[in-house]
Amino acid sequence: MEMYIGGKFCGAENGETIGITDPATMQEIGRMPMASVADVDRAVSAADAAFEGWRKMPAHDRALVMQEMARKLNAHKQTYAALLTAEQGDTLSTHLHDEIEFCISTIDFYAQLSREEIGSVVPPNTSHTFNFVLKEPYGPTACIVPFNYPFLLLFWKIAPALAAGNTIVIKPSERTPLATLQLAKDVFDHFPPGVVNVISGTGATGQALVGHPRIRIISFTGSTKVGEKIIRDSVGTGKNLIIEMGGKDATVVADDIDLDQAVSSVLASSFWNAGQVCTSTERVYVQRAVYDAFLKKMIAGAERLKLGDGRDETTDIGPLCDNATILKVEEHIADAVAKGAVVRTGGKRRKGLPSTQYFEPTILTGVSDDMLCVQDETFGPVVFVEPYDTMEDAIALVNSSRFGLGAILLSMNPIYIKQFFEDVKAGTIWINDPLPDTMGGPFGGMKCSGYCNSRELGRQGLEQYLETKHVHWDFAPDRLHERTSF
Ligand code: NAD
Repeated sequence: MEMYIGGKFCGAENGETIGITDPATMQEIGRMPMASVADVDRAVSAADAAFEGWRKMPAHDRALVMQEMARKLNAHKQTYAALLTAEQGDTLSTHLHDEIEFCISTIDFYAQLSREEIGSVVPPNTSHTFNFVLKEPYGPTACIVPFNYPFLLLFWKIAPALAAGNTIVIKPSERTPLATLQLAKDVFDHFPPGVVNVISGTGATGQALVGHPRIRIISFTGSTKVGEKIIRDSVGTGKNLIIEMGGKDATVVADDIDLDQAVSSVLASSFWNAGQVCTSTERVYVQRAVYDAFLKKMIAGAERLKLGDGRDETTDIGPLCDNATILKVEEHIADAVAKGAVVRTGGKRRKGLPSTQYFEPTILTGVSDDMLCVQDETFGPVVFVEPYDTMEDAIALVNSSRFGLGAILLSMNPIYIKQFFEDVKAGTIWINDPLPDTMGGPFGGMKCSGYCNSRELGRQGLEQYLETKHVHWDFAPDRLHERTSF
C-alpha cells in the first residue's frame, strides 16, 4: 500500500515498510510505509499549501466535494468492510452497518451543517459600527486514529474538519492502516491535491506529526496515556487540541428491570468487538436483590457466545486485534486473581482456532480497588460484576473511576433514571439501550477520558474545528474624535 501526499501516491522516502497481519489467521495481508520525519513534513507542507484554496472555496462547493466522498464510500462499502475485518478482526456486519454506513451519514451531516452558518451578528456599541463573529478554519489538521474502529473514528474527525475548511493529514493506527490507505485511491482522489493526505507509521510518526509547527489542530482519539502525552507536549504551541481518550465504563442494573433484557444488554456492551470499544462495559454493578440471578444468567449467556473469524456470519466475537492487547488482558486477569478475584467464566485464550488471538469472554467477581482491572482500562472481553444496595451507592461506584466516558443504567424507575443522569460524571449516559451513537448527540469524555470539553458528532463536533474571530467595523471613522482626544 502507498501513502497519499499532495495528490500523489508514494512510499516512505527511505523505503521502509511494516507488515500487517490478519488477527483471525496471523497471515500477512499487506504492508504499510513507515513514514519518516521528512515524509511527515512533506504531508504537512502539502496540507498547508492547499489550505488557502480549500478554505476560500464556497461552503456549498466544499459540501458537494464532501458528498462525492460519501457517494464513493457507499459504492465501495462491501470491499471496505472486508478489508476492515481482515485487519481489525471484528465481524463484517459490524464494519458494514455500524461503522461504514454511519461514516457515510456523518459526511452527509457535516456537509449539510457547513452550509448553514459561519458566525453571527452581535449588537454594536454605537450606531456607526457593525459587529459580527466569524467562524473560520484553523489550517492543517492532524487526524490520529486508534485501531478499534478505524473508519468510524476517522470520519468523525475528517468530515467536520474538511467541512469547516481545514486541510488534513491522516495517520491511521499502525495495527489497522490498510483500509485507510486504500481510501486515498477510491474515496479521496477527487479532492484538490493536498486537501487530504494519508501517511502511515507508528507512534513515532504520530509524534512527529503532532509536533510539526504548521499543524494547527491536533485531533486525536486513542489511549489516555498517549493523549496525555500529546496534551503535555503541546503546551505553548498554540495548537487547538481535540482529544478523545480511554474509558472504564460501568453498567448499573437496577432490581426493577427484566433480567433477560439486562443480560442481553450487558453481554452486548461488554463483548462487542471483543471488548475493544472505548465505551465497553468493563464494570457491572447489580442491585443486591437480583445479583445472584443476574450473575447466573450472565455467565450462561457469555458461555453461549461464539468465537470465530469475523467473516463467518455465525460469529459473535472475533479475535483481538493484536498480541499487545491480549497481553494486557492477561495481565489484568492474573493481577485480579493474585489479589483474590474469582474468574467465573473465561479467563484464557480459546484453543483450536486458527490463531492465538481469540480470548474467551471473561467474568470476574470479588474484585477490589487495588486491582488493575478496577483502576485501568482493560480493553478486552473482560468484565467484573459486583453487587450494590442503593442507587446512591451505585452512582458512587460509577463515579469512583478516574475515567468518565460513558455509563449505562438499566431500569424503568424514573427516580433512579433522574438520579443517574444528573449525578453520574460521564460524557454519554445510555438508559436501557447499550451504546448507540447518535448523529446529533455530541460524543466525548469527562475527567481523564477527554480534554477541555472535546466532543465529536453533533453541532459541537463541527465547532471544534472552527476558530472564533470578532470583527468590529466602524463605517464612519471620522467620528473617532467624539470619544477620544487622539
Ligand atoms: P493508542 O493511544 O495506542 O494509539 C492511537 C493512535 O495514536 C495510533 O495511531 C498511534 O500510532 C498514535 N500514537 C501513538 N503514540 C503517539 C504519540 N506519541 N504522538 C502521536 N500519536 C501517537 O490507542 P490504541 O491502542 O490504538 O486504541 C485504543 C485506545 O483508544 C483505548 O484506550 C480506547 O479507549 C481509546 N479510544 C477512545 C475513543 C473515544 O472516543 N474516547 C474511541 C476509540 C478508542
